[in-house]
Amino acid sequence: MRTLVLNAGYEPLAVVPSRRAVVLIMRGKATMIRAGEGSLTGVSVSVPRPSVIVLARYVRRPRAKRLAVTRRGVLRRDGHRCAYCGRTATTVDHIQPRSRGGEDSWENLVACCLACNGAKGDKSLAQMRWTLPFRPREPRGDLWHLRGLEQPDDAWRDYLAAA
Ligand SMILES: [Zn+2]
Repeated sequence: MRTLVLNAGYEPLAVVPSRRAVVLIMRGKATMIRAGEGSLTGVSVSVPRPSVIVLARYVRRPRAKRLAVTRRGVLRRDGHRCAYCGRTATTVDHIQPRSRGGEDSWENLVACCLACNGAKGDKSLAQMRWTLPFRPREPRGDLWHLRGLEQPDDAWRDYLAAA
């Protein structure tokens, strides 16, 4: 069971196990703003399970480092849409093929459907006469650095939408 932690300014900050959220509340470091289903039972008390909490004091985050590139991350960045044809993408493509020195980087990877990936193979965009509708880059934005948001709890939507 997971809890969404909002910074004191209500920006989403992290997703933590609900037990940890309870500890933050008990120590006065956070306030529950939305209860989830169920409760957590401790040694002597049973408390409602927090779904969303907000920190009492503003936490300043360190500047984000370069985000590690992953297949899942590329698919998410591109909205699971093929960069070449717009259909549903389940794979990623090296724009400059690996066999031609293309790297595993945010700039060189795009979401790609099976058909386009198969058609392109080891060829370059120029050879295919394909163009990219956007310039791929490392995703920016605070939500990218939050783990656990791939499957957000329904109860969090209002708080995530505001960010
Ligand atoms: Zn495609």
